[in-house]
Amino acid sequence: MKWSQTLIPTLKENPADAELISHKLMVRAGIIRKLSSGIYSLLPLGFKILQKIEKIIREEMEYAGASELLLPILSPSELWKESGRWDVYGKELIRIKDRQNREFALGPTHEEIITDLVRKEIKTYKKLPINLYQIQIKFRDEIRPRFGVMRAKEFMMKDGYSFDRDEANAERTYKKMYDGYYKIFSRLGLKFKAVEADTGAIGGSFSHEFMVLADSGEEVIVSCSKCEYAANLEKASGKNSDVTSKTGKTENLQKINTPNIKTVEELTKFLNCSAKNLVKTIICKADKEYIAALVRGDYEININKLKNILGCCELTMAQAEDIRKLTNAPIGFAGPVGFKNIKIIADESVKNMSNFITGSNEADTHLMNVNINRDFKIDLIGDIRLVKESDLCDLCGEKLVFTRGIEVGHVFKLGTKYSKALNATYLDEQGKDQIMVMGCYGIGVTRIIAASIEQQYDENGIIWPVSIAPYQILITPLNVKDDEIKTTADTIYNILSKEKFDILFDDRDETAGVKLKDADLIGIPLRITIGSKTLKEGKVELYVRKSKEVYKISKEEIVPKIKELISSI
Ligand code: ATP
Ligand code: MG
Repeated sequence: MKWSQTLIPTLKENPADAELISHKLMVRAGIIRKLSSGIYSLLPLGFKILQKIEKIIREEMEYAGASELLLPILSPSELWKESGRWDVYGKELIRIKDRQNREFALGPTHEEIITDLVRKEIKTYKKLPINLYQIQIKFRDEIRPRFGVMRAKEFMMKDGYSFDRDEANAERTYKKMYDGYYKIFSRLGLKFKAVEADTGAIGGSFSHEFMVLADSGEEVIVSCSKCEYAANLEKASGKNSDVTSKTGKTENLQKINTPNIKTVEELTKFLNCSAKNLVKTIICKADKEYIAALVRGDYEININKLKNILGCCELTMAQAEDIRKLTNAPIGFAGPVGFKNIKIIADESVKNMSNFITGSNEADTHLMNVNINRDFKIDLIGDIRLVKESDLCDLCGEKLVFTRGIEVGHVFKLGTKYSKALNATYLDEQGKDQIMVMGCYGIGVTRIIAASIEQQYDENGIIWPVSIAPYQILITPLNVKDDEIKTTADTIYNILSKEKFDILFDDRDETAGVKLKDADLIGIPLRITIGSKTLKEGKVELYVRKSKEVYKISKEEIVPKIKELISSI
Protein backbone atom coordinates (compact mmCIF):
# COMPACT_ATOMS: atom_id res chain seq x y z
CA MET A 1 0.00 0.00 0.00
CA LYS A 2 1.21 3.47 -0.84
CA TRP A 3 1.00 5.97 2.02
CA SER A 4 -0.26 8.66 -0.34
CA GLN A 5 -3.24 6.50 -1.32
CA THR A 6 -4.45 5.66 2.16
CA LEU A 7 -5.52 7.65 5.22
CA ILE A 8 -2.90 7.81 7.98
CA PRO A 9 -3.47 11.23 9.54
CA THR A 10 -0.59 11.39 12.05
CA LEU A 11 -0.54 14.16 14.64
CA LYS A 12 2.24 15.88 16.56
CA GLU A 13 0.12 16.73 19.60
CA ASN A 14 -1.53 14.42 22.08
CA PRO A 15 -5.33 14.62 22.21
CA ALA A 16 -6.47 16.63 25.23
CA ASP A 17 -8.89 13.98 26.51
CA ALA A 18 -6.40 11.09 26.53
CA GLU A 19 -4.93 9.77 29.78
CA LEU A 20 -3.42 6.46 28.70
CA ILE A 21 -0.40 6.23 26.44
CA SER A 22 -2.24 3.79 24.15
CA HIS A 23 -5.08 6.26 23.65
CA LYS A 24 -2.65 9.10 22.89
CA LEU A 25 -0.61 7.02 20.46
CA MET A 26 -3.62 5.53 18.70
CA VAL A 27 -4.91 9.00 17.93
CA ARG A 28 -1.49 10.42 17.02
CA ALA A 29 -0.65 7.47 14.78
CA GLY A 30 -3.92 7.91 12.88
CA ILE A 31 -5.32 4.56 14.03
CA ILE A 32 -8.56 5.85 15.56
CA ARG A 33 -10.70 8.98 15.53
CA LYS A 34 -13.35 9.84 18.06
CA LEU A 35 -16.86 10.42 16.83
CA SER A 36 -18.44 10.92 20.22
CA SER A 37 -17.79 9.79 23.81
CA GLY A 38 -16.86 6.07 23.71
CA ILE A 39 -17.51 5.86 19.97
CA TYR A 40 -14.55 5.57 17.60
CA SER A 41 -13.82 5.03 13.94
CA LEU A 42 -11.01 2.65 13.13
CA LEU A 43 -9.03 4.23 10.30
CA PRO A 44 -7.21 2.05 7.74
CA LEU A 45 -4.24 1.24 10.01
CA GLY A 46 -6.60 0.37 12.87
CA PHE A 47 -8.75 -1.80 10.65
CA LYS A 48 -5.70 -3.70 9.37
CA ILE A 49 -4.60 -4.41 12.95
CA LEU A 50 -8.13 -5.54 13.80
CA GLN A 51 -8.16 -7.91 10.84
CA LYS A 52 -4.84 -9.43 11.86
CA ILE A 53 -6.11 -10.05 15.39
CA GLU A 54 -9.33 -11.52 14.02
CA LYS A 55 -7.41 -13.87 11.71
CA ILE A 56 -5.47 -15.35 14.63
CA ILE A 57 -8.67 -15.72 16.66
CA ARG A 58 -10.46 -17.43 13.75
CA GLU A 59 -7.61 -19.87 13.15
CA GLU A 60 -7.44 -20.93 16.80
CA MET A 61 -11.20 -21.11 17.21
CA GLU A 62 -11.56 -23.34 14.16
CA TYR A 63 -8.71 -25.48 15.52
CA ALA A 64 -10.55 -25.79 18.84
CA GLY A 65 -13.70 -26.93 17.03
CA ALA A 66 -15.76 -23.73 17.17
CA SER A 67 -17.64 -22.54 14.05
CA GLU A 68 -18.19 -18.94 13.15
CA LEU A 69 -21.63 -17.45 12.57
CA LEU A 70 -23.11 -13.97 12.69
CA LEU A 71 -26.04 -13.13 14.93
CA PRO A 72 -28.21 -10.02 14.73
CA ILE A 73 -27.23 -6.95 16.74
CA LEU A 74 -30.86 -6.01 17.33
CA SER A 75 -32.34 -8.42 19.80
CA PRO A 76 -36.02 -8.45 20.73
CA SER A 77 -36.83 -7.71 24.38
CA GLU A 78 -38.94 -10.90 24.64
CA LEU A 79 -35.80 -13.04 24.80
CA TRP A 80 -34.26 -10.83 27.46
CA LYS A 81 -37.47 -11.03 29.45
CA GLU A 82 -37.43 -14.82 29.12
CA SER A 83 -33.94 -14.98 30.65
CA GLY A 84 -34.84 -12.38 33.27
CA ARG A 85 -32.10 -10.00 32.17
CA TRP A 86 -34.34 -7.27 30.73
CA ASP A 87 -34.97 -6.03 34.27
CA VAL A 88 -31.60 -6.70 35.89
CA TYR A 89 -29.13 -5.68 33.16
CA GLY A 90 -29.52 -2.04 34.08
CA LYS A 91 -28.51 1.06 32.18
CA GLU A 92 -25.60 -0.54 30.31
CA LEU A 93 -28.13 -2.20 28.02
CA ILE A 94 -29.04 0.15 25.18
CA ARG A 95 -32.77 -0.21 24.57
CA ILE A 96 -34.58 1.08 21.51
CA LYS A 97 -38.03 0.86 19.96
CA ASP A 98 -39.07 0.29 16.38
CA ARG A 99 -41.98 2.12 14.65
CA GLN A 100 -44.44 -0.43 16.03
CA ASN A 101 -43.23 0.36 19.51
CA ARG A 102 -41.56 -3.04 19.88
CA GLU A 103 -38.60 -2.99 22.24
CA PHE A 104 -35.13 -4.16 21.31
CA ALA A 105 -31.70 -4.22 22.88
CA LEU A 106 -28.50 -3.47 21.01
CA GLY A 107 -26.54 -6.62 21.81
CA PRO A 108 -24.04 -6.23 24.66
CA THR A 109 -23.53 -10.04 24.67
CA HIS A 110 -25.53 -12.82 23.01
CA GLU A 111 -26.38 -15.62 25.45
CA GLU A 112 -30.12 -15.17 24.88
CA ILE A 113 -29.93 -15.02 21.10
CA ILE A 114 -27.63 -18.03 20.69
CA THR A 115 -29.63 -20.11 23.19
CA ASP A 116 -32.80 -19.31 21.28
CA LEU A 117 -31.16 -20.44 18.04
CA VAL A 118 -29.76 -23.65 19.51
CA ARG A 119 -33.00 -24.62 21.29
CA LYS A 120 -34.82 -24.37 17.98
CA GLU A 121 -32.22 -26.16 15.88
CA ILE A 122 -30.80 -28.87 18.14
CA LYS A 123 -33.12 -31.48 19.59
CA THR A 124 -30.99 -34.58 20.06
CA TYR A 125 -27.82 -35.69 21.83
CA LYS A 126 -26.48 -36.72 18.41
CA LYS A 127 -25.96 -33.06 17.48
CA LEU A 128 -24.08 -32.17 20.68
CA PRO A 129 -21.63 -30.73 21.52
CA ILE A 130 -21.85 -27.57 19.47
CA ASN A 131 -19.54 -24.59 19.83
CA LEU A 132 -20.40 -21.39 17.95
CA TYR A 133 -18.75 -17.99 17.89
CA GLN A 134 -18.97 -14.64 16.18
CA ILE A 135 -16.87 -11.51 15.85
CA GLN A 136 -19.18 -8.55 16.03
CA ILE A 137 -19.73 -5.01 17.33
CA LYS A 138 -21.13 -4.95 20.85
CA PHE A 139 -22.95 -2.06 22.54
CA ARG A 140 -22.67 -1.17 26.21
CA ASP A 141 -23.68 2.16 27.64
CA GLU A 142 -20.68 2.23 29.98
CA ILE A 143 -21.08 4.59 32.92
CA ARG A 144 -17.66 6.11 32.16
CA PRO A 145 -16.41 5.36 28.68
CA ARG A 146 -12.69 6.08 28.77
CA PHE A 147 -9.19 5.31 27.57
CA GLY A 148 -10.16 5.33 23.89
CA VAL A 149 -11.16 1.89 22.64
CA MET A 150 -10.23 0.30 25.96
CA ARG A 151 -13.63 1.04 27.47
CA ALA A 152 -15.93 2.12 24.70
CA LYS A 153 -19.68 2.21 24.16
CA GLU A 154 -19.31 0.34 20.91
CA PHE A 155 -16.51 -2.19 20.47
CA MET A 156 -15.56 -5.35 18.63
CA MET A 157 -15.91 -8.56 20.58
CA LYS A 158 -15.39 -12.19 19.78
CA ASP A 159 -18.10 -14.01 21.67
CA GLY A 160 -18.45 -17.77 21.68
CA TYR A 161 -20.94 -20.15 23.26
CA SER A 162 -20.77 -23.90 23.76
CA PHE A 163 -23.54 -26.41 24.39
CA ASP A 164 -22.80 -29.81 25.89
CA ARG A 165 -24.80 -32.79 27.10
CA ASP A 166 -23.58 -32.66 30.69
CA GLU A 167 -21.19 -31.08 33.17
CA ALA A 168 -18.28 -33.40 32.41
CA ASN A 169 -18.42 -32.67 28.69
CA ALA A 170 -18.88 -28.94 29.33
CA GLU A 171 -15.73 -28.98 31.43
CA ARG A 172 -13.80 -30.61 28.60
CA THR A 173 -15.01 -27.92 26.20
CA TYR A 174 -14.05 -25.25 28.73
CA LYS A 175 -10.52 -26.66 28.90
CA LYS A 176 -10.28 -26.65 25.10
CA MET A 177 -11.34 -23.00 24.97
CA TYR A 178 -8.94 -22.10 27.79
CA ASP A 179 -6.08 -23.72 25.85
CA GLY A 180 -7.23 -21.98 22.67
CA TYR A 181 -7.15 -18.61 24.44
CA TYR A 182 -3.61 -19.31 25.63
CA LYS A 183 -2.56 -19.88 22.04
CA ILE A 184 -4.39 -16.79 20.79
CA PHE A 185 -2.85 -14.38 23.31
CA SER A 186 0.61 -15.92 22.84
CA ARG A 187 0.36 -15.51 19.07
CA LEU A 188 -0.78 -11.91 19.54
CA GLY A 189 2.60 -11.23 21.16
CA LEU A 190 1.10 -10.26 24.53
CA LYS A 191 2.49 -10.84 27.99
CA PHE A 192 -0.54 -12.14 29.86
CA LYS A 193 -1.80 -14.21 32.73
CA ALA A 194 -4.93 -16.31 33.10
CA VAL A 195 -6.47 -15.60 36.49
CA GLU A 196 -9.36 -17.17 38.36
CA ALA A 197 -12.47 -15.00 38.28
CA ASP A 198 -15.71 -14.95 40.21
CA THR A 199 -18.36 -17.38 39.06
CA GLY A 200 -21.17 -15.86 41.11
CA ALA A 201 -23.88 -18.33 41.94
CA ILE A 202 -22.46 -21.02 39.66
CA GLY A 203 -19.44 -21.69 41.87
CA GLY A 204 -16.27 -23.69 41.27
CA SER A 205 -13.24 -22.27 39.55
CA PHE A 206 -14.70 -22.38 36.07
CA SER A 207 -14.13 -18.81 35.12
CA HIS A 208 -10.84 -17.31 34.06
CA GLU A 209 -9.98 -13.85 32.87
CA PHE A 210 -7.04 -13.36 30.56
CA MET A 211 -5.15 -10.30 31.71
CA VAL A 212 -2.55 -8.41 29.73
CA LEU A 213 0.07 -7.35 32.25
CA ALA A 214 0.34 -3.56 32.35
CA ASP A 215 0.76 -1.04 35.18
CA SER A 216 -1.96 1.09 33.60
CA GLY A 217 -4.50 -1.75 33.77
CA GLU A 218 -7.80 -1.24 35.60
CA GLU A 219 -7.77 -4.71 37.16
CA VAL A 220 -5.77 -5.86 40.17
CA ILE A 221 -4.21 -9.29 39.73
CA VAL A 222 -3.47 -11.19 42.91
CA SER A 223 -0.82 -13.83 42.40
CA CYS A 224 1.36 -15.97 44.59
CA SER A 225 5.04 -15.10 44.76
CA LYS A 226 5.86 -18.82 44.65
CA CYS A 227 3.18 -21.06 43.14
CA GLU A 228 0.87 -20.75 40.14
CA TYR A 229 -2.09 -19.25 42.02
CA ALA A 230 -3.53 -16.14 40.38
CA ALA A 231 -6.96 -14.56 40.69
CA ASN A 232 -8.59 -11.21 40.19
CA LEU A 233 -9.15 -9.11 43.30
CA GLU A 234 -12.86 -9.89 43.35
CA LYS A 235 -12.21 -13.62 43.56
CA ALA A 236 -8.86 -13.83 45.38
CA SER A 237 -8.64 -15.43 48.77
CA GLY A 238 -5.71 -15.64 51.14
CA LYS A 239 -4.79 -16.49 54.66
CA ASN A 240 -4.19 -13.81 57.23
CA SER A 241 -0.49 -13.47 57.85
CA ASP A 242 -1.23 -12.22 61.35
CA VAL A 243 -4.36 -13.96 62.54
CA THR A 244 -5.52 -12.50 65.79
CA SER A 245 -5.62 -15.26 68.37
CA LYS A 246 -8.01 -15.12 71.27
CA THR A 247 -6.49 -13.79 74.45
CA GLY A 248 -7.56 -15.63 77.56
CA LYS A 249 -9.43 -13.01 79.56
CA THR A 250 -12.46 -11.09 78.36
CA GLU A 251 -12.60 -7.57 79.71
CA ASN A 252 -15.75 -5.69 80.69
CA LEU A 253 -17.73 -4.02 77.94
CA GLN A 254 -17.21 -0.29 78.04
CA LYS A 255 -18.83 2.63 76.23
CA ILE A 256 -16.45 5.46 75.28
CA ASN A 257 -16.99 8.93 73.89
CA THR A 258 -15.72 9.38 70.36
CA PRO A 259 -17.07 12.77 69.29
CA ASN A 260 -17.47 12.98 65.52
CA ILE A 261 -15.00 10.10 65.02
CA LYS A 262 -16.36 7.96 62.23
CA THR A 263 -13.66 6.37 60.13
CA VAL A 264 -11.21 3.62 61.06
CA GLU A 265 -8.36 6.05 60.52
CA GLU A 266 -9.85 8.68 62.83
CA LEU A 267 -10.65 6.11 65.47
CA THR A 268 -7.21 4.44 65.54
CA LYS A 269 -5.61 7.87 65.84
CA PHE A 270 -8.01 8.95 68.58
CA LEU A 271 -7.61 5.75 70.62
CA ASN A 272 -3.98 5.21 69.65
CA CYS A 273 -4.65 1.62 68.67
CA SER A 274 -4.21 -0.60 65.62
CA ALA A 275 -6.96 -1.11 63.04
CA LYS A 276 -6.57 -4.79 63.88
CA ASN A 277 -8.33 -4.09 67.22
CA LEU A 278 -11.41 -2.74 65.46
CA VAL A 279 -14.32 -4.46 63.79
CA LYS A 280 -16.09 -2.61 61.00
CA THR A 281 -19.83 -3.08 60.60
CA ILE A 282 -21.21 -2.59 57.12
CA ILE A 283 -24.96 -2.58 56.64
CA CYS A 284 -26.15 -3.85 53.29
CA LYS A 285 -29.42 -4.59 51.61
CA ALA A 286 -29.50 -8.17 50.32
CA ASP A 287 -32.49 -8.35 47.98
CA LYS A 288 -35.16 -7.09 50.38
CA GLU A 289 -33.49 -7.85 53.71
CA TYR A 290 -30.92 -5.80 55.63
CA ILE A 291 -27.79 -7.59 56.86
CA ALA A 292 -24.69 -6.52 58.78
CA ALA A 293 -21.28 -7.63 57.57
CA LEU A 294 -18.35 -7.57 59.97
CA VAL A 295 -14.73 -7.37 58.98
CA ARG A 296 -11.53 -6.60 60.91
CA GLY A 297 -10.64 -2.91 60.81
CA ASP A 298 -7.69 -3.30 58.44
CA TYR A 299 -9.75 -5.16 55.80
CA GLU A 300 -12.40 -4.14 53.30
CA ILE A 301 -15.59 -6.00 52.54
CA ASN A 302 -15.69 -7.88 49.23
CA ILE A 303 -19.22 -7.32 48.01
CA ASN A 304 -19.03 -10.21 45.54
CA LYS A 305 -18.00 -12.75 48.13
CA LEU A 306 -20.71 -11.48 50.45
CA LYS A 307 -23.26 -11.78 47.69
CA ASN A 308 -22.16 -15.34 46.92
CA ILE A 309 -22.27 -16.43 50.54
CA LEU A 310 -25.76 -14.99 50.95
CA GLY A 311 -26.92 -16.37 47.61
CA CYS A 312 -28.83 -13.16 46.91
CA CYS A 313 -29.49 -11.58 43.52
CA GLU A 314 -28.80 -7.99 44.47
CA LEU A 315 -26.60 -6.58 47.16
CA THR A 316 -26.14 -2.88 47.78
CA MET A 317 -24.74 -0.76 50.58
CA ALA A 318 -27.54 0.62 52.74
CA GLN A 319 -28.34 4.32 52.34
CA ALA A 320 -27.53 6.77 55.17
CA GLU A 321 -31.22 7.16 55.90
CA ASP A 322 -31.80 3.41 56.27
CA ILE A 323 -28.73 3.07 58.49
CA ARG A 324 -30.06 5.76 60.77
CA LYS A 325 -33.42 3.99 61.01
CA LEU A 326 -31.87 0.60 61.68
CA THR A 327 -29.19 1.64 64.17
CA ASN A 328 -30.54 4.88 65.59
CA ALA A 329 -27.17 6.39 64.78
CA PRO A 330 -25.56 8.25 61.92
CA ILE A 331 -23.15 6.50 59.51
CA GLY A 332 -19.91 5.48 61.19
CA PHE A 333 -21.34 4.35 64.53
CA ALA A 334 -23.02 1.04 63.65
CA GLY A 335 -22.02 -2.03 65.63
CA PRO A 336 -23.30 -5.59 66.16
CA VAL A 337 -24.12 -5.31 69.86
CA GLY A 338 -27.84 -4.90 70.36
CA PHE A 339 -28.82 -5.55 66.72
CA LYS A 340 -32.20 -7.11 66.43
CA ASN A 341 -33.67 -8.79 63.37
CA ILE A 342 -30.54 -8.18 61.33
CA LYS A 343 -28.54 -11.18 60.19
CA ILE A 344 -24.86 -10.82 61.13
CA ILE A 345 -22.28 -12.22 58.74
CA ALA A 346 -18.70 -12.10 59.98
CA ASP A 347 -15.52 -12.44 58.05
CA GLU A 348 -13.01 -15.08 59.15
CA SER A 349 -10.69 -12.27 60.22
CA VAL A 350 -13.13 -11.49 63.04
CA LYS A 351 -13.86 -14.95 64.39
CA ASN A 352 -10.84 -15.21 66.74
CA MET A 353 -10.86 -11.62 67.94
CA SER A 354 -11.58 -10.66 71.53
CA ASN A 355 -11.91 -7.40 73.43
CA PHE A 356 -12.33 -5.43 70.22
CA ILE A 357 -13.81 -2.04 69.42
CA THR A 358 -17.04 -1.51 67.46
CA GLY A 359 -19.62 1.16 66.88
CA SER A 360 -22.25 1.42 69.60
CA ASN A 361 -25.31 2.34 67.52
CA GLU A 362 -25.27 5.71 69.22
CA ALA A 363 -23.86 8.92 67.81
CA ASP A 364 -20.37 9.88 68.99
CA THR A 365 -19.71 6.75 71.02
CA HIS A 366 -18.02 3.38 70.49
CA LEU A 367 -17.86 0.17 72.48
CA MET A 368 -14.61 -1.27 73.83
CA ASN A 369 -13.93 -4.87 74.88
CA VAL A 370 -16.64 -6.34 72.68
CA ASN A 371 -16.64 -10.15 72.60
CA ILE A 372 -18.43 -12.57 70.29
CA ASN A 373 -21.12 -14.75 71.88
CA ARG A 374 -21.04 -12.80 75.14
CA ASP A 375 -22.16 -9.53 73.52
CA PHE A 376 -23.66 -10.63 70.18
CA LYS A 377 -24.14 -13.72 68.03
CA ILE A 378 -22.82 -14.32 64.54
CA ASP A 379 -25.24 -15.95 62.09
CA LEU A 380 -22.73 -16.85 59.40
CA ILE A 381 -18.92 -16.89 59.14
CA GLY A 382 -17.04 -16.94 55.86
CA ASP A 383 -14.45 -15.28 53.66
CA ILE A 384 -16.08 -11.96 52.78
CA ARG A 385 -13.01 -9.71 52.67
CA LEU A 386 -10.77 -8.34 49.96
CA VAL A 387 -7.30 -9.85 50.26
CA LYS A 388 -4.38 -7.58 51.14
CA GLU A 389 -0.94 -7.73 49.68
CA SER A 390 0.60 -9.08 52.87
CA ASP A 391 -1.82 -12.03 53.04
CA LEU A 392 -0.57 -15.54 52.37
CA CYS A 393 -1.45 -17.88 49.53
CA ASP A 394 -4.14 -20.42 50.41
CA LEU A 395 -2.35 -23.07 48.39
CA CYS A 396 1.28 -22.78 49.48
CA GLY A 397 1.46 -20.20 52.27
CA GLU A 398 3.81 -17.80 50.48
CA LYS A 399 3.14 -14.06 50.16
CA LEU A 400 0.55 -12.79 47.70
CA VAL A 401 1.60 -9.98 45.37
CA PHE A 402 -0.56 -7.43 43.58
CA THR A 403 0.03 -6.38 39.97
CA ARG A 404 -2.19 -4.71 37.43
CA GLY A 405 -3.72 -5.97 34.24
CA ILE A 406 -6.09 -5.27 31.36
CA GLU A 407 -8.84 -7.86 30.89
CA VAL A 408 -8.76 -8.95 27.26
CA GLY A 409 -10.59 -12.25 27.49
CA HIS A 410 -12.96 -14.18 29.68
CA VAL A 411 -13.91 -17.86 29.66
CA PHE A 412 -16.86 -18.95 31.74
CA LYS A 413 -18.66 -22.21 32.40
CA LEU A 414 -22.24 -21.01 32.51
CA GLY A 415 -23.83 -24.27 33.51
CA THR A 416 -27.58 -24.27 32.88
CA LYS A 417 -28.35 -20.64 33.74
CA TYR A 418 -29.57 -19.70 30.28
CA SER A 419 -30.50 -23.13 28.94
CA LYS A 420 -32.84 -23.61 31.90
CA ALA A 421 -34.39 -20.15 31.60
CA LEU A 422 -34.93 -20.54 27.86
CA ASN A 423 -35.65 -24.25 28.00
CA ALA A 424 -32.85 -25.39 25.71
CA THR A 425 -33.20 -29.14 25.99
CA TYR A 426 -32.28 -32.23 23.96
CA LEU A 427 -33.40 -35.84 23.95
CA ASP A 428 -30.82 -38.30 25.34
CA GLU A 429 -30.34 -41.94 24.25
CA GLN A 430 -33.27 -42.98 26.41
CA GLY A 431 -35.51 -40.37 24.81
CA LYS A 432 -35.49 -38.29 28.00
CA ASP A 433 -35.42 -34.48 27.98
CA GLN A 434 -32.14 -33.08 29.31
CA ILE A 435 -30.99 -29.50 29.76
CA MET A 436 -27.93 -28.42 27.79
CA VAL A 437 -24.86 -27.25 29.72
CA MET A 438 -23.35 -24.05 28.39
CA GLY A 439 -20.09 -22.13 28.39
CA CYS A 440 -19.32 -18.64 27.08
CA TYR A 441 -16.05 -17.22 25.88
CA GLY A 442 -15.33 -13.55 25.13
CA ILE A 443 -12.40 -11.61 23.72
CA GLY A 444 -12.20 -7.81 23.57
CA VAL A 445 -10.84 -7.52 20.05
CA THR A 446 -10.55 -3.72 19.88
CA ARG A 447 -9.31 -3.57 23.47
CA ILE A 448 -6.40 -5.82 22.44
CA ILE A 449 -5.09 -3.11 20.10
CA ALA A 450 -4.79 -0.69 23.03
CA ALA A 451 -3.51 -3.37 25.43
CA SER A 452 -0.71 -4.30 23.05
CA ILE A 453 0.43 -0.67 22.90
CA GLU A 454 0.37 -0.36 26.70
CA GLN A 455 2.94 -3.17 26.72
CA GLN A 456 5.15 -2.02 23.86
CA TYR A 457 5.99 1.57 23.10
CA ASP A 458 8.85 4.00 23.59
CA GLU A 459 9.30 7.78 23.61
CA ASN A 460 8.95 7.83 19.81
CA GLY A 461 5.80 5.81 19.41
CA ILE A 462 4.24 2.38 19.08
CA ILE A 463 6.18 -0.89 18.73
CA TRP A 464 3.93 -3.52 17.14
CA PRO A 465 4.57 -7.23 17.46
CA VAL A 466 4.92 -8.68 13.92
CA SER A 467 1.75 -10.77 14.32
CA ILE A 468 -0.62 -7.80 14.59
CA ALA A 469 1.37 -4.96 13.02
CA PRO A 470 -0.73 -3.26 10.34
CA TYR A 471 2.18 -3.82 7.95
CA GLN A 472 5.31 -5.91 8.41
CA ILE A 473 7.61 -3.61 6.49
CA LEU A 474 7.74 0.12 5.87
CA ILE A 475 9.75 1.34 2.90
CA THR A 476 10.97 4.88 3.45
CA PRO A 477 12.67 6.64 0.55
CA LEU A 478 14.06 9.76 2.23
CA ASN A 479 13.67 11.94 -0.84
CA VAL A 480 11.18 10.95 -3.55
CA LYS A 481 12.45 13.69 -5.86
CA ASP A 482 15.82 11.94 -6.12
CA ASP A 483 15.59 9.57 -9.12
CA GLU A 484 18.04 6.99 -7.83
CA ILE A 485 16.34 6.83 -4.45
CA LYS A 486 12.91 6.58 -6.04
CA THR A 487 13.92 3.85 -8.50
CA THR A 488 15.62 1.83 -5.76
CA ALA A 489 12.58 2.18 -3.53
CA ASP A 490 10.27 1.05 -6.37
CA THR A 491 12.48 -1.94 -7.11
CA ILE A 492 12.57 -3.00 -3.47
CA TYR A 493 8.79 -2.55 -3.21
CA ASN A 494 8.34 -4.85 -6.22
CA ILE A 495 10.75 -7.48 -4.89
CA LEU A 496 9.09 -7.57 -1.48
CA SER A 497 5.58 -7.53 -2.92
CA LYS A 498 6.41 -10.62 -4.96
CA GLU A 499 7.47 -12.31 -1.72
CA LYS A 500 3.98 -11.53 -0.35
CA PHE A 501 5.18 -9.36 2.51
CA ASP A 502 2.71 -6.87 3.89
CA ILE A 503 4.26 -3.52 2.94
CA LEU A 504 3.55 0.14 3.44
CA PHE A 505 5.42 2.38 0.98
CA ASP A 506 5.98 5.93 2.23
CA ASP A 507 5.87 7.60 -1.19
CA ARG A 508 4.99 11.01 0.26
CA ASP A 509 6.95 14.06 -0.77
CA GLU A 510 7.85 14.98 2.82
CA THR A 511 11.14 15.75 4.52
CA ALA A 512 13.25 12.90 5.84
CA GLY A 513 12.61 14.21 9.38
CA VAL A 514 8.81 14.02 9.04
CA LYS A 515 8.96 10.55 7.48
CA LEU A 516 11.25 9.06 10.10
CA LYS A 517 9.20 10.55 12.95
CA ASP A 518 5.98 9.17 11.47
CA ALA A 519 7.66 5.81 10.91
CA ASP A 520 8.58 5.50 14.57
CA LEU A 521 5.16 6.73 15.64
CA ILE A 522 3.16 4.14 13.70
CA GLY A 523 5.56 1.41 14.80
CA ILE A 524 5.93 -0.92 11.80
CA PRO A 525 8.38 -3.66 12.94
CA LEU A 526 10.87 -3.34 10.04
CA ARG A 527 11.81 -0.29 8.01
CA ILE A 528 13.91 -0.08 4.89
CA THR A 529 15.37 3.39 4.66
CA ILE A 530 16.71 4.52 1.31
CA GLY A 531 18.93 7.61 1.32
CA SER A 532 21.65 8.95 -0.93
CA LYS A 533 24.45 8.38 1.56
CA THR A 534 24.02 4.61 1.88
CA LEU A 535 23.11 4.29 -1.80
CA LYS A 536 26.60 5.53 -2.66
CA GLU A 537 27.89 2.38 -0.98
CA GLY A 538 25.29 0.37 -2.93
CA LYS A 539 23.35 -0.31 0.25
CA VAL A 540 20.12 0.47 2.04
CA GLU A 541 19.36 0.49 5.76
CA LEU A 542 17.21 -2.11 7.44
CA TYR A 543 15.97 -0.80 10.79
CA VAL A 544 14.34 -2.88 13.51
CA ARG A 545 11.78 -0.74 15.36
CA LYS A 546 11.87 -2.75 18.58
CA SER A 547 15.64 -3.14 19.11
CA LYS A 548 16.65 -0.05 17.10
CA GLU A 549 19.26 -2.22 15.34
CA VAL A 550 20.37 -1.03 11.89
CA TYR A 551 21.71 -3.34 9.19
CA LYS A 552 23.37 -1.89 6.09
CA ILE A 553 22.60 -4.37 3.37
CA SER A 554 22.60 -4.72 -0.42
CA LYS A 555 19.40 -5.23 -2.42
CA GLU A 556 20.14 -8.95 -2.75
CA GLU A 557 20.41 -9.41 1.00
CA ILE A 558 17.05 -7.80 1.78
CA VAL A 559 14.73 -10.79 1.36
CA PRO A 560 16.76 -13.36 3.35
CA LYS A 561 17.54 -10.82 6.09
CA ILE A 562 13.89 -9.82 6.44
CA LYS A 563 12.82 -13.47 6.56
CA GLU A 564 15.35 -14.11 9.29
CA LEU A 565 14.32 -11.04 11.30
CA ILE A 566 10.56 -11.53 10.96
CA SER A 567 10.75 -14.98 12.50
CA SER A 568 12.92 -13.81 15.37
CA ILE A 569 11.51 -10.44 16.54
P1 ATP B 1 -15.01 -5.20 32.09
O1 ATP B 1 -14.90 -5.80 33.47
O2 ATP B 1 -13.71 -4.66 31.58
O3 ATP B 1 -16.17 -4.26 31.95
P2 ATP B 1 -16.63 -7.37 31.26
O4 ATP B 1 -16.42 -8.38 32.33
O5 ATP B 1 -17.84 -6.52 31.29
O6 ATP B 1 -15.33 -6.44 31.16
P3 ATP B 1 -17.19 -9.39 29.25
O7 ATP B 1 -18.64 -9.24 29.34
O8 ATP B 1 -16.56 -10.63 29.77
O9 ATP B 1 -16.48 -8.09 29.87
O10 ATP B 1 -16.76 -9.14 27.74
C1 ATP B 1 -15.71 -9.85 27.07
C2 ATP B 1 -14.54 -8.95 26.75
O11 ATP B 1 -14.94 -7.77 26.06
C3 ATP B 1 -13.81 -8.44 27.97
O12 ATP B 1 -12.87 -9.39 28.42
C4 ATP B 1 -13.14 -7.19 27.45
O13 ATP B 1 -11.88 -7.50 26.88
C5 ATP B 1 -14.07 -6.69 26.38
N1 ATP B 1 -14.86 -5.53 26.81
C6 ATP B 1 -15.84 -5.49 27.73
N2 ATP B 1 -16.35 -4.26 27.85
C7 ATP B 1 -15.68 -3.48 26.96
C8 ATP B 1 -15.76 -2.10 26.60
N3 ATP B 1 -16.65 -1.29 27.15
N4 ATP B 1 -14.92 -1.62 25.65
C9 ATP B 1 -14.03 -2.45 25.05
N5 ATP B 1 -13.91 -3.76 25.35
C10 ATP B 1 -14.72 -4.28 26.29
MG1 MG C 1 -18.17 -4.53 31.83
